[in-house]
Amino acid sequence: SPTNARWQDRKVAAIARGEGNLAPVYIDRALNAEMWDVESRRYIDFGTGIAVCNTGHSHPKVVAAVKDQVDRFSHTCVMVTPYDTAVRLAEQLNRLAPGPSPKKSMFVTTGAEAVENAIKIARAHTRRRGVIAFNGGYHGRTNFTLGLTGKNAPYKTNFGPFPADIYRVPYPIEYHGVSLDDTLHAIEMLFKCDIVPEDVAAIIVEPVQGEGGFYPASDEFLRAIRTICDTHGIVMIADEIQSGFGRTGQFFCMEHSGVEPDLMTVAKGMAGGFPIAGVVGKAEIMDAPDPGGLGGTYAGSPVGCAAALAVIEVIEDEQLVDRANHIASVFATRLQALRAQYPDLIGDIRTDRGAMMAMEIIHDGDASKPNPDLVKAIVADAYKQGLVILSCGVRGNVFRFLPALTIPDALIHEGLDIFERVMAKVTS
Ligand code: PMP
Repeated sequence: SPTNARWQDRKVAAIARGEGNLAPVYIDRALNAEMWDVESRRYIDFGTGIAVCNTGHSHPKVVAAVKDQVDRFSHTCVMVTPYDTAVRLAEQLNRLAPGPSPKKSMFVTTGAEAVENAIKIARAHTRRRGVIAFNGGYHGRTNFTLGLTGKNAPYKTNFGPFPADIYRVPYPIEYHGVSLDDTLHAIEMLFKCDIVPEDVAAIIVEPVQGEGGFYPASDEFLRAIRTICDTHGIVMIADEIQSGFGRTGQFFCMEHSGVEPDLMTVAKGMAGGFPIAGVVGKAEIMDAPDPGGLGGTYAGSPVGCAAALAVIEVIEDEQLVDRANHIASVFATRLQALRAQYPDLIGDIRTDRGAMMAMEIIHDGDASKPNPDLVKAIVADAYKQGLVILSCGVRGNVFRFLPALTIPDALIHEGLDIFERVMAKVTS
């Protein structure tokens, strides 16, 4: 009979080691917030495959929509003979994207491609070269998006050279002593020393910095970026790939600040696990590239479109945006109680952006002393106890909690009970 260990041996022999895996756990089936491996062991999923299955694993409505689509056809190429689901999905995104400006959308397959295309659109619109990104930002693994990504290990190691015309400034995180003034000053100096604002096509920002450590952008920060972009005719791109589709307690995270970005990248939670991504933004900017300038063989695959339409319906019908806020309040109470038990080890707890939640692990109650080893030890023991949990952070010391927005409260508590037991065991 198949075992995790046997599959892991075959994986190591067959798949390049660069594609690592968090746990030697081979999933046989998954439903809503639970997964079962090939040895019939059960896991509570606090990771949703990195913020993808916001509507839970195999939501019946998503599965039905995909089956129906596959029964009819699975590919014609949207650039050859398109189909209604691509149009409907664009209409839905245009409706849901924040702000009053008329919107248009375009589709690709992965988040990194969405970012690539947002940059292409911004450059075509402005006819400028420069792009400003932030320390700790994550935008993907293709060459341009790696260039934008502001976290070296493991993403950028040995993969240079990176593209030109990318400029990076600090992302404001008060908890790390980086103020909004520091960021604005760095941008001012950039404009004086490295690139004039008239040469800058875009500023790209995550409304909650994701891989970098789950740091929400303040409203003041996003407003300041909006003002800089308006002053200099720069395109503001919000990367909502991890924060979108109900995750943060708004349909899109930018709604928290009331700031309308010019372009927004979407992926992950968009289709509950089927590969589709896109750019949605102000129509006159989206229309800058000439016909044929955007696309791809699998751009807006019919299966992805069908899944995404079902996901949007489920988020709205089941009021999952509200559920995200409820989940955050349940986690907040439990995590704060845990911090009272471990005041030296647990630092900042972030639960004010819905179910995109985080907890910093430190030494001696000192925020400047990250404790990534303890995070690694807990992640490595948690899956053995039946909990899949992810970490993140430039310093590697942040737990991120990303349960399905459909997770029942009882499973949240069961998962956090496991987490507490593991924490007690690993620190004793
Ligand atoms: N941008 C952000 C904010 C992300 O979190 C990610 C994925 N973690 C990406 C871009 C890249 O998406 P993908 O892995 O689908 O290429």
